Amino acid sequence: MITDVINPKDIKKVDPVFGQLSFDNHEQVVFCNDKDTGLKAIIGIHSTVLGPALGGTRMWQYNNEWEALNDVLRLSRGMTFKSAITGLNLGGGKAVIIGDAKTQKTPELMKKFGEYVHSLSGKYITAEDVGMETADMDLVREVTPYVTGISESKGGAGNPSPITAYGVYMGMKAAAKYKFGADILEDKKVFVQGIGHVGEALVEHLVNEGANVVVADINEARLEEVSSKYGASIYTGNDIYSESMDIYAPCALGATINDDTVYKLKAQVIAGAANNQLAEEIKHGAILQKRGIVYAPDFLINAGGIINVYAELENYGKQEIIRKTENIYNTTLQILEKAKDNHITTHQAALDIANERIEARKKEASK
Ligand code: NAD
Repeated sequence: MITDVINPKDIKKVDPVFGQLSFDNHEQVVFCNDKDTGLKAIIGIHSTVLGPALGGTRMWQYNNEWEALNDVLRLSRGMTFKSAITGLNLGGGKAVIIGDAKTQKTPELMKKFGEYVHSLSGKYITAEDVGMETADMDLVREVTPYVTGISESKGGAGNPSPITAYGVYMGMKAAAKYKFGADILEDKKVFVQGIGHVGEALVEHLVNEGANVVVADINEARLEEVSSKYGASIYTGNDIYSESMDIYAPCALGATINDDTVYKLKAQVIAGAANNQLAEEIKHGAILQKRGIVYAPDFLINAGGIINVYAELENYGKQEIIRKTENIYNTTLQILEKAKDNHITTHQAALDIANERIEARKKEASK
């Protein structure tokens, strides 16, 4: 007797994977489950047109599995465009592990995750993202070669976050030049939201240049630490989006530019490290454009990390990493100009360039 027949009334109208709002013709979505280690992970492979799908692994306590699935779909898609616009021969992929990185991450869980990555035979290559450290990638490396962001002592390029921060700083300076006429950040009021691995390194660059930096984070201890180390002010209010500032740098999680915040924002420039800052790319990108707020596309200016890990695959050194990352300044300026000339959003201008490269490669391959 069949006992687990689903009542048609209970079937969700939206199909579980292909019907998700964030689904954008992803090539493959892999669900990983291991009872013994407690691993529950999803690997999203958006595109392998330009090369293997490379993107970090995020460990996060999602409210539910839909949230995790949507995150991995959005993040992996973003990686496709990030690598394409940066000129790297990489596709787009990302992984999420459902759980609390502080309490549920174990060496066994990381190695089991590595086995799943290995089972994809190099189609997906992992690295670190939120909730991951270089040491975690070293554990993954014990079971698969398809991992980057491993320790320098083990032949890797090390923690990508400082380079990511440097690229964001370059993109922010370019956006400032476009908006304010000069790329000088001295005395500019910059709010850095999220002072983790990338946020802290960004704060350092900004403080060194004499910017007036305000930091916000949900982690009080981090706030005290970063504030006392660099002399940045701590944000004590309860609505960062209503504060007056020159530059808003989202460096925590994505979708902070959404229906609730997009009309409140007083910043003139948005430039930060977080992936997927626009909750709805078309809608919120257009509102920012209308409001005259210059948005430096996230996937363009936060590419320093992928440039850094790509060095492990292509064997280029620190100098080339820095050169490629500094080029984010030029690309950002070009994209902001292109958006203005074509009366499109900055996000769209960046997407168009990335898509052109992907389509050209497809055409080449089909010859
Ligand atoms: P992290 O985990 O080290 O830091 C994130 C910080 O944000 C933490 O301090 C956390 O407490 C804080 N935070 C979380 N929710 C918050 C909230 N609602 N308000 C304020 N602060 C909050 O992560 P990271 O490696 O610094 O990455 C930051 C962002 O940049 C992520 O979106 C990540 O995907 C993106 N990114 C990182 C890299 C990289 O090289 N690490 C590369 C590209 C993009």
